[in-house]
Amino acid sequence: MDTAPPLLAVSGREIIDSIREGIIITDAEGLIQAVNTCFCSLTGFSPEDVIGQNPRIFKSGKHTKSFYDRMWKTIADRGFWKGEIWNRRKDGSIYLESRTISAIRDNEGTITNYIGIFSDISKQKKAEETIRHLAFYDPLTNLPNRALFRDRLKQAINQAERNKKLLAVLFLDLDRVKIINDTLGHDIGDRLLVGVARRLEECLREGDSIARLGGDEFIVLLPGVNQMDDVVKLTEKILGSLKPAFNLDGHELFITASVGISIYPHDGEDANTLLRNADSALYRAKGQGRNNYQLFTRGMETEVLEQLELTNSLRRALDRDEFVVYYQPQLNIESGEIVGIEALVRWQHPEFGVLPPKRFIHWAEDTGLIIPLGEWVLKQACEQNRKWQMAGHPRLRVAVNLSALQFRQKNLVSTVEKVLADTNLPPDSLELELTETVIMENAGPSTSVPHSLRALGVRFSIDDFGTGYSSLSYLKRFPVNTLKMDRSFIQDLTTSTDDLAIATAVVTLGHGLNLTVLAEGVETEGQLETLKNLKCDRMQGFLFSEPIPASDFEEMLNENRRLDEATLFSAHHKHIPNLTN
Ligand code: C2E
Ligand code: MG
Ligand code: MG
Repeated sequence: MDTAPPLLAVSGREIIDSIREGIIITDAEGLIQAVNTCFCSLTGFSPEDVIGQNPRIFKSGKHTKSFYDRMWKTIADRGFWKGEIWNRRKDGSIYLESRTISAIRDNEGTITNYIGIFSDISKQKKAEETIRHLAFYDPLTNLPNRALFRDRLKQAINQAERNKKLLAVLFLDLDRVKIINDTLGHDIGDRLLVGVARRLEECLREGDSIARLGGDEFIVLLPGVNQMDDVVKLTEKILGSLKPAFNLDGHELFITASVGISIYPHDGEDANTLLRNADSALYRAKGQGRNNYQLFTRGMETEVLEQLELTNSLRRALDRDEFVVYYQPQLNIESGEIVGIEALVRWQHPEFGVLPPKRFIHWAEDTGLIIPLGEWVLKQACEQNRKWQMAGHPRLRVAVNLSALQFRQKNLVSTVEKVLADTNLPPDSLELELTETVIMENAGPSTSVPHSLRALGVRFSIDDFGTGYSSLSYLKRFPVNTLKMDRSFIQDLTTSTDDLAIATAVVTLGHGLNLTVLAEGVETEGQLETLKNLKCDRMQGFLFSEPIPASDFEEMLNENRRLDEATLFSAHHKHIPNLTN
């Protein structure tokens, strides 16, 4: 008799054992009849432990009775179940398996066996969780990220709508973190961000959420707000919490933040609008000099769009030659003569017209553009002044404003030296203007920059004097030549006895230190009269002239205009567009 050769040279047992998934075979009653090797290694049970037992010995206790009922019902109906199930190993630990259970029927359709095939997916699950965490959390601070925040915001909006409550979104941006990253390295920058995150968290109440959007931007959600006052108080608390220094690696770091706030439902009824409007408010807060907060108001969007356009085009403005220097005369009060000019930059914007520095200087400082721009102004001013000197005004002096960033540049001395050499301007015909704050922040006894510049023969003036905090001892050490008394004291000079007292003190102080005193923003003859009586040396202001283009000033020089009644009268009645707002 012919016997057919076996199809396989291995036994069924060998096949089962070679499979890399756990296998359990039960009889129709569900009692275990066989398991494979993989089952043993995954669960820790030996065949002897389990044969004859009901698989309920693996139960983890993590599933309800109805879970198992549903499972068995599916097997009964379809002959098959597939799903994830938590089970227990011999050592008691629980693990997640992906399992299929199939019912095996004989020819009559009666169930004879059940076969369960499973694999341990705990590790895979953990990996999935990590990925999910990464998708919703910021790995640096462990705070929720934008995606999760958006989700929570949507839920909070629904709730606020149901409960007729307010909800606030706070957009928070740390000021000047870039400087810390650039100077101390990203490691310190990162740890600072973590430190900030912890302080922010401490300010929040139960139910509030905070997220990090990346970079130095955070966002806070205050659901269920009763009144605006609560929002303002919390914002102030947040700003206050950042005040104490952060100590990182022996560095004492001070950080401030700007905050933009939008409120549901006033400023938007959906997540996108609320986020966008909080961002607009933030932009405004940054523009207002940082370390402050702004509530969103209607109209901000267009303003912000315009600002955005401005900052974008600012980068190209220098290449496109869109900046111009205007000059404002400075006069000797006693003799009435023009003795100098201050160079004041303007931006000839192709769309918005002539823009005053207030509209763009702080963006230029933010982006670092102030460095090349400042250098350009310096060069223009020196070149122009030299031309006027050569044309018959040899003593004319030009004043140029320096921003803090420029003052901190290591190569400032060589830059100034080069410009003077290139333009052939005598060094004492150049006066650099610095504000008190810039001097106080940078002119510690160790700084040699002002002294090196002074050694070149360049002069210094203190701009907006009286508005910052000056230490007289610093002032004495700083090689300054001129005090420019701030416009705010001149404004009400003839009506406010306080301002009169301050102006008197500034003139006395200046003269006591052997300095020239110049009054800024002189607009009326009454003010001029008072300054004359105080023996103030110089004046600059609309009374004589606004800042004007070089060609106009040239005309003024040629006409030999002076500070006398006749010229004042004509200047006063000439229509000059106001550029200062
Ligand atoms: P500043 O240096 O204190 O300049 C004086 C400002 O007062 C000028 O404003 C001038 O137009 C204005 N002013 C002069 N006289 C009067 C007056 O009688 N009444 C009134 N109401 N205002 C008067 P401007 O040109 O808008 O410049 C504003 C500020 O921008 C300057 O204040 C200065 O700090 C800064 N700035 C201007 N040009 C430059 C520059 O090239 N570099 C830097 N870093 N800053 C600049
Ligand atoms: Mg100035
Ligand atoms: Mg000033």
